[in-house]
Amino acid sequence: MALSGLDIYKLLPKTNCKECGFPTCLAFAMKLSQKGVELSACPYVSDEAKAALEAASSPPIRLITIGTGENKIVVGNEVVLFRHEKTFYHEPGLVVRVADSWEPGKIAEVVSQVDSYVVERVGMKLTLNGIAVENVSGDATKFVQVVQLVKQKTALPLVLMSANAAAMDAALQIAGPDKPLVYAATPENWQAYADLAKKYACSLAITDSGDLSRLGSLAESVIKAGVADLVLDPGTRNLADSLASLTQLRRLALKKNLRLLGFPILALAGGDDSTLEEQTILATELIAKYAGIVVLGRFDPTGIYPLLAFRQNIYTDPQKPIQVSPGLYKFGEPGEQSPLLITTNFSLTYFTVAGEVEGSGVPSWLVIADSEGMSVLTAWAAGKFDAEKIAKSVKSAGMDDKLGHRKLVIPGYVATLSGEVEEELPGWQILVGPREAVDIPSYLKTVWKAA
Ligand code: SF4
Repeated sequence: MALSGLDIYKLLPKTNCKECGFPTCLAFAMKLSQKGVELSACPYVSDEAKAALEAASSPPIRLITIGTGENKIVVGNEVVLFRHEKTFYHEPGLVVRVADSWEPGKIAEVVSQVDSYVVERVGMKLTLNGIAVENVSGDATKFVQVVQLVKQKTALPLVLMSANAAAMDAALQIAGPDKPLVYAATPENWQAYADLAKKYACSLAITDSGDLSRLGSLAESVIKAGVADLVLDPGTRNLADSLASLTQLRRLALKKNLRLLGFPILALAGGDDSTLEEQTILATELIAKYAGIVVLGRFDPTGIYPLLAFRQNIYTDPQKPIQVSPGLYKFGEPGEQSPLLITTNFSLTYFTVAGEVEGSGVPSWLVIADSEGMSVLTAWAAGKFDAEKIAKSVKSAGMDDKLGHRKLVIPGYVATLSGEVEEELPGWQILVGPREAVDIPSYLKTVWKAA
């Protein structure tokens, strides 16, 4: 049962020392009761109080790890229903399903493609996270052969999917040390699957396509059998039912503190007969609300990239813009007559501008001003990208010594600053660049050359 703010307050030191960042112990207790702060922020909690408080302050959704090493999938530990309340912490693992009924050549090709798929966006490498191997054949020998084949092709975490406990046991004998997710315990077979999860120390998915109370009962049975690391599959497969069941699960875990349902959720987004569009739309919904693992029925790069970009957006802390380091960046081999541009250190701004400058083929200098991660217009409105900041950034980049000219291109959105920048940088000519980054190449090839 969750403790109220007053319950928590009674266990705190009550010295109001403020070291936790709150003005009083009561304020800290209230925030802790809303799961808006970690207990470790108070360094003075006694051991007894800590033991009592940890249960209340521990995240309502258990943290689960699948796989080992640098590729492992870590999901759970979420504390809010809506991203704007705080942030979402652990992005869902996107895993691609292969079936043991497929030709080995097809399986090897799909696994290799998933393993090597990487795209770079705003300076971050986006990848897929694992392979789900489904025992469609029901045959233990075939399942084991395919698991072996997949292991030869990738070190990504595995989700082993079989309704045959003997086949699962045989597959775990070779894949168990890699800590795959065992999928899945049902009301009919849960004892055998709980035994396997304990034997191989793996996380266990449980599924029941009935209502959520039955899923809770199944969780209770499996937990009593000694398995602590669970993943829930409510068994819903279409847009409306999935939205309803996953939202209910998240609400029950967060708002009702229902520990039996306080686990990450696994959801299937399409099978062999789904179209790419159906898979992509359902997977998008699942990423937003509230899957921890999304099993994709097919691999197709045209559907994967939007999912990865969407996941990146949803799982970015809204209070911390992604930033690049302020400073001087070079494109090509710029010399003393090369153009000099300036923009802000919001990642999306930087990578958009950098892409266009690079694409222009004109060797250039680009100064990135520290705007605390804001885009050009936002930073200008907030006073973080003004004439003084622009001049300071150009000077600290040492451009006086690097250039044989004194021309600076500022973003078109802050054209109004050109006069003030000229006052801050005496002897410099301030040129107003395009408003949109897409127009930078033609600007550098025409306007800059003529200036
Ligand atoms: S650090 Fe601990 S003792 Fe100090 S004000 Fe915060 S909760 Fe109270």
